[in-house]
Amino acid sequence: PVNRSTAVQEARLKLPILAEEQVVMEAVRENPCVVICGETGSGKTTQVPQFLYEAGYASDGGIIGITEPRRVAAVSMSHRVAQEMNLPRQVVSYQIRYEGNVTSDTKIKFMTDGVLLKEIQKDFLLQRYRVIIIDEAHERSVYTDILIGLLSRIIPLRNKKGMPMKLLIMSATLRVEDFTDNQKLFRTPPPVIKVDARQFPVTIHFNKRTPLEDYTGEAFHKTCKIHRMLPPGGILVFLTGQAEVNSLCRRLRKAFPFRRGNTGLFPGQSSCSQADSLPCIDLDSYSALPMDEGDEDREAGVGDEEDGDEDLDLGDDPADGNPSIPLYVLPLYSLLAPEQQAKVFRPSPPGTRLCVVATNVAETSLTIPGIKYVVDCGRVKKRFYDRVTGVSSFQVTWTSQASANQRAGRAGRTEPGHCYRLFSSAVFGDFSLFSEAEITRRPVEDLVLQMKDLNIEKVVNFPFPTPPSAEALAAAEQLLVSLGALEKPPQRRTVKEMQRAQLSCPITALGRAMASFPVAPRYAKMLALGKQQDCLPYILTVVAAMTVREIFEEPAHSDEENSKITQRRARLTQMRRLWAGQGASLLLGDLMVMLGAVGACEFACCTPKFCEENGLRYKAMVEIRRLRGQLTNAVNAVCPEVGAFVDPKMNPPTEHQVLCLRQIVLAGLGDHLARRVQAEDMLDPKWKNGYKTPLMDDPVFIHPNSALFKTLPDFVVYQEIMENTKMYMRGVSAVEAEWIP
Ligand code: ADP
Ligand code: MG
Repeated sequence: PVNRSTAVQEARLKLPILAEEQVVMEAVRENPCVVICGETGSGKTTQVPQFLYEAGYASDGGIIGITEPRRVAAVSMSHRVAQEMNLPRQVVSYQIRYEGNVTSDTKIKFMTDGVLLKEIQKDFLLQRYRVIIIDEAHERSVYTDILIGLLSRIIPLRNKKGMPMKLLIMSATLRVEDFTDNQKLFRTPPPVIKVDARQFPVTIHFNKRTPLEDYTGEAFHKTCKIHRMLPPGGILVFLTGQAEVNSLCRRLRKAFPFRRGNTGLFPGQSSCSQADSLPCIDLDSYSALPMDEGDEDREAGVGDEEDGDEDLDLGDDPADGNPSIPLYVLPLYSLLAPEQQAKVFRPSPPGTRLCVVATNVAETSLTIPGIKYVVDCGRVKKRFYDRVTGVSSFQVTWTSQASANQRAGRAGRTEPGHCYRLFSSAVFGDFSLFSEAEITRRPVEDLVLQMKDLNIEKVVNFPFPTPPSAEALAAAEQLLVSLGALEKPPQRRTVKEMQRAQLSCPITALGRAMASFPVAPRYAKMLALGKQQDCLPYILTVVAAMTVREIFEEPAHSDEENSKITQRRARLTQMRRLWAGQGASLLLGDLMVMLGAVGACEFACCTPKFCEENGLRYKAMVEIRRLRGQLTNAVNAVCPEVGAFVDPKMNPPTEHQVLCLRQIVLAGLGDHLARRVQAEDMLDPKWKNGYKTPLMDDPVFIHPNSALFKTLPDFVVYQEIMENTKMYMRGVSAVEAEWIP
């Protein structure tokens, strides 16, 4: 029996999913797999695990497992459910890549999807679990897709063994055909339970014009207007990335300064006690204009005439607005420190209006209480990979109609709301209907290796909800063969035979070792070679740093350019030069800089102060530390005689070790080789200082921030190529011509 507080009980009863408890539990009893669709905020994530717990699915040693594509959600949802159920966190726990609070008493376990995939490798039948819930399946993250494919096989196996397990797939959208109408996945289509969203109507306002460049500026003006003119209610702004979010937060805070103690406007108001109670605002001191008078937007599909909105503009300088209440501005994005993230769930100070400026994280996984207005820039930042060259780039693109509608829905959870789209209805009409599954958009060598390790030899036959392209699978297999993780396919006579053989290469002993390291196969190969010349501590560090990525703080630019920032930049350049070392170590290039940075940071006990002063991202450094620990354990498990350990006071590598490190790095990044163009190629100015790679016609370059920018070695290997103004190699290290096979 669960002992919930009255407040929690009341809040639960308002959630639409509560009305479906019987239906859900009956479907789960009768079917091995059930799909639940319900709008964000309907209570799926917090309530369904509780239904299952109360129905006894966690009794006699069984566990209820819930996977989330995002770490933020796994952590915050486990806390929330523990609190609702009045159970300690040893019982309702979470596990994410580097940390968790799971104990032998754990009954409900929230985890990232990657964590469950690892567990399947250890115990294919997942015997400790009685139920697995795959949450946020609509996000179509790669691991979610793979898990659903694997579980479609595990569930019948468990049934056959007389220890049945249940699978629940939960989605915030109704688009679940990839799971239900897929004979390869589930021969009998699983039942779909639709949870009625008790969603209040949201009025959609499209912009007449679509700002092509300055949509953050547009978001600023729109938010100011809402705050100055519209009745109380939280504002949620969707932008694409951290830098944009921070910059808008700064502008808004400047326009509507908020100081603690500045809230005497509403005497007698106690500080809010409930998470979702709105600040109560005295309408008499508030200049509320009716919607259609003060607003320059038009509603969806109504009216087509364009009339300039300038004449309706009530002065663009927000300071003119003299808003009667302060704006309480909070950022929300994945890289934000957890304690900062948690702020959005807490009541905003009394007498203020909450304004959350967020990236996509607020689209479905987290429900922020009290939002009445949504401002949507209509864009999303995604990583794109070139299928042939592997070049990746972050690009801001239009989102999908489904996503835009999800975002709009955030405004109607507590009362009717409004969504302001910073684009026209015509532009919306051109959006794709749905976002593509991630698995079709990225290289898959890591997945292929994991699958081979699960003894799935013919990866092409795997029941993917949406299969990756045949080329992507073939490229992955080829890379793994070249790294020695898979056996070379035997020579065959016909092309068909060759192709078939190439898609079913068995895993090697090296491949098994590599699969046990939770990093990309190229880096796993380096770890496997790391024990030579006592290089392991360095390789562990470099691999951890390359996996965590973005370890340097990028000093903000544009609007805030001032001497302080120039100073910080200079300091960072100076530190990078120092970390790059001297003499032989220079040739290890950017990887030496990473090694030096992590070494220095650990030496200084990895304090936030040290990171701040030296331009290192604190959160990244903490992650690197954890990953080093995890990788060290993984290496010791495969090869106990090396006795690897994390040494916080690591000496810099010797000259001889640097040479060895460079060779190990080449063994992992061998397909990421680039040659400096020869004098005769340099007739074309675009090739000046350029490098040639095997797969590309265009030159790639060493970035000015790179430790090798001045050296320009003849041959280099790189971690990745990012395209922004030019194609830049990142994580560059020099190699010698005679090492290249
Ligand atoms: P779904 O998974 O269907 O999107 P959730 O179960 O996440 O829905 O959320 C249900 C309700 O619980 C939401 O209305 C949300 O406001 C509330 N809620 C969730 N997490 C928290 C939290 N950490 N603090 C306060 N309220 C929360
Ligand atoms: Mg949810």
